[in-house]
Amino acid sequence: MKNISLLSHRKEEPEQGILYLVGTPIGNLNDISPRAINILANVSLIACEDTRQTRKIMNKFNISNHLVSFNKENSLKKIPKLINDLKAGKSIALVSDAGMPGICDPGEKIVFHAKSKGYDVVCIPGACAAITALVSSGMPSSKFIFEGFLPKKKVDREKILFEISKNQKTTIVYESPHRLKKLLRELLDFCGGEREIFIARELTKKFEEHVSYKIDSAIEFFKEKEVIGEITIVIKGIHKKDNEEISESDLKKDLNELTNAGLSSSAASKYLAKKYGIKKGIIYNLN
Ligand code: SAM
Repeated sequence: MKNISLLSHRKEEPEQGILYLVGTPIGNLNDISPRAINILANVSLIACEDTRQTRKIMNKFNISNHLVSFNKENSLKKIPKLINDLKAGKSIALVSDAGMPGICDPGEKIVFHAKSKGYDVVCIPGACAAITALVSSGMPSSKFIFEGFLPKKKVDREKILFEISKNQKTTIVYESPHRLKKLLRELLDFCGGEREIFIARELTKKFEEHVSYKIDSAIEFFKEKEVIGEITIVIKGIHKKDNEEISESDLKKDLNELTNAGLSSSAASKYLAKKYGIKKGIIYNLN
């Protein structure tokens, strides 16, 4: 791996032997930069998740170029071949189905391999659903936590949900439309109904919708609705009071102190739940 690359951008793009990460639209095809179009039109080949998706962009901007499939299923097999292409002096554009390659797709693996073999990787930035939702949410957006898709395995999922419940920073989560209601119920269990969330549906598309509610009202809002389209969820962090740290161990300590002082576990959990804005059951279960 090279430690230093001086990428002056004085030369004409694309250059030989470079992997370009090209941000593409998350819906509205006009959200693509002239620089991205130039790279897509002139690289030796485009590695893309789904050739049908990438062709929509190419057709819109009259680009014709060689497409190679690079997705979750075939990425490990394809990486050595793509590295060989870089070695042969080819330039490669990597695109995902939508947004920034490397965010919740196999892009990060090829970036790792290309860099560890000493090839330069240059990003042509574009839209990202997480950032688009975050800045539209009205929640603190200068410091945030991005969780991507939550794990499916219960124990791993609950660990992240617990972390979200006590994050002081805004959290961003991706979710599929058919799992949104389940996730909202889980957020209710872990964060309580009062926590504010922002659900961005179909960002940049014709039927873009922003739903800003507390968790319990959001559940009510979607109750009778069939959820369709792409969804990004932004969850407000809990309010930090007087520099109080609220790690799991601190919560346990507080709980012990209160119960040792004679409060029942239930009353102590209720008190701490209110103090830190965390669901009572979560604190009770730390017992
Ligand atoms: N690479 C993409 C990016 O930069 O945002 C994300 C890819 S991830 C595989 C796909 C997920 O992103 C979707 O399931 C959805 O949660 C979110 N997403 C993508 N497009 C979106 C849109 N137009 N509106 C809301 N969320 C979107």
